[in-house]
Amino acid sequence: LSFTSCGLPPKLLLNLETAGYDFPTPIQMQAIPAALSGRSLLASADTGSGKTASFLVPIVSRCARYRSEHPSSDPRNPLALVLAPTRELCVQVEDQAKMLGKGLLFKTALVVGGDPMSGQLYRIQQGVELIIGTPGRLVDLLAKHTIELEDIMMFVLDEVDCMLQRGFIDQVMQIFRALSQPQVLLFSATVSREVEKVGGSLAKEMILVSI
Ligand code: AMP
Repeated sequence: LSFTSCGLPPKLLLNLETAGYDFPTPIQMQAIPAALSGRSLLASADTGSGKTASFLVPIVSRCARYRSEHPSSDPRNPLALVLAPTRELCVQVEDQAKMLGKGLLFKTALVVGGDPMSGQLYRIQQGVELIIGTPGRLVDLLAKHTIELEDIMMFVLDEVDCMLQRGFIDQVMQIFRALSQPQVLLFSATVSREVEKVGGSLAKEMILVSI
């Protein structure tokens, strides 16, 4: 499998090439086609495996396509949501998302502690396709402000094992309940019974991906 055989938007292929992503990594080879098809998945993948692009390539592709095929969709409603356990990880995910989404109908917003909430809210209200955040900050934001999450079609949990360790799962479930049956993409370095249980509560069926 190559990136060019996945039916990705030409600009995304160009961005991958510019980044020096010549060949998909093993996790990308499995996760990208499955995620592009709209199915939910649970992938066991560690940092360094290319896991971030495993969910960002399908997100950029599906969101940009959705916006161009649904010109009447409300641009203030985000289409994808990525939750990660730390601010640093969220920043890294956003950097890569911006790089992959360059030149496409694809904007991002970060919802993490440490920066004023007002600026983050303003950015979302200007219209973004992808929100990347930590569960705690997003719950805070949703408690104080209305953000339309009904168009979210892709929901990603990065480092699920770490989310469990930090006790974030109640907040994750609270956020999930505000969504309307999105595709769910879960990534975890280790896939324990607890991680599988989280998967089972978020999606009826999940493809298991491991390398
Ligand atoms: P991650 O596992 O997502 O933290 O990615 C680890 C590193 O691999 C990051 O610096 C990525 O930019 C890089 N990377 C991801 N996918 C590819 C690829 N297909 N080819 C080359 N580098 C990649």
